[in-house]
Amino acid sequence: MKNYNFSAGPAMIPDEVKVRMQNDLSGWKVPGISVAEISHRSSSYIDLLDDTKERFKSLLDIPNDYEVLFCHGGARAQFSAVPLNLVSENDKPQYLNGGYWAQSAYDEARLFCNAKLTSIEQYHNKVYSLKPCDEWDIDIDAPYIHFCSNETLNGIEITQLPEQNFPFIADMTSNILSRPINVNKFSMIYAGTQKNLGIPGLSVIILKKSIINSDNERVPSVLNYKKLLDSNSLYNTPSTYAIYVTNLILKWISSRGGLMKIFHENQKKADYLYSYLDNSPYYSNNVDPKYRSLMNVSFNIEGNNFLDEKFIEAAEKNGLHYLKGHRAIGGMRASIYNAMPFEAIEKLVNFLDLFTKNIK
Ligand code: PLP
Repeated sequence: MKNYNFSAGPAMIPDEVKVRMQNDLSGWKVPGISVAEISHRSSSYIDLLDDTKERFKSLLDIPNDYEVLFCHGGARAQFSAVPLNLVSENDKPQYLNGGYWAQSAYDEARLFCNAKLTSIEQYHNKVYSLKPCDEWDIDIDAPYIHFCSNETLNGIEITQLPEQNFPFIADMTSNILSRPINVNKFSMIYAGTQKNLGIPGLSVIILKKSIINSDNERVPSVLNYKKLLDSNSLYNTPSTYAIYVTNLILKWISSRGGLMKIFHENQKKADYLYSYLDNSPYYSNNVDPKYRSLMNVSFNIEGNNFLDEKFIEAAEKNGLHYLKGHRAIGGMRASIYNAMPFEAIEKLVNFLDLFTKNIK
């Protein structure tokens, strides 16, 4: 039986990539010496690092006035690095709040500056939704405006931005490379790599070079964008293995036909699952269809929370793993990142249907 990993993160890695990882562990460039064992300053590693950056630039169509940086500490490190690098204590960047991760980024930013939190959430009859982007109460004086483009816990995604340009900074940890984006709409984008980009611990940053503040001396060096830029992300030893896995994943995306192709596959998978949930009297998803995430599909057994554990247990016996919702909200969540094949969604839907016999 094939097992599928619906974990929200660290998340599924494509099978083809795992095969390459296994092969390369027994020798990468030189037989017997893996990529995890060679110097980050060796020419073969620097070639890999540069290739990874170039692949990002090409897949996301990143303009020349932006740079790609690699940093330690996953996405949460950027919750601190963003305000530390870009503003001073009395500055008031704005944090648009659409859920748990947006709020967490704000909570961290408050340690370093006078950040302001503005809600963009709204509820109608228990349906979780967001304000349309042209109704966001944007502070035009804010040095930057931060939001999270995909709230991994509830499965709510922002895909539309106001027409007017603002200095947006987005946490794209759980939806980066799931669809094409217009990078020009952002001052900066960052993502922890443990979902669509490989394994945890690393963050990828895409930033407009002009926003870097070169005389901000209080920034810890490992998080300092100027130092990362000047050192080609080699200020200290980077997460070499994580960058290598990200490189394999970027190659995998290209081999699948690029981002538009991946986007269409993601739409097909998400539509199939949401449509089943919407048409079943036994399950519910409480996110406004306009903002439903393509990556994280949350659902509940209608009126029967006590069946959650039984559901998870039975799902695992059927090869469907890590469907338990986040501890903060409970219920179930199927994370269906780029690596998840359509046949896994079919298998999940068949199981959902089979399980309804326990609910009736
Ligand atoms: N932001 C989002 C949207 C996430 O989903 C997560 C983790 O799941 C994080 C931030 C935190 O990432 P990390 O654990 O790499 O700091």
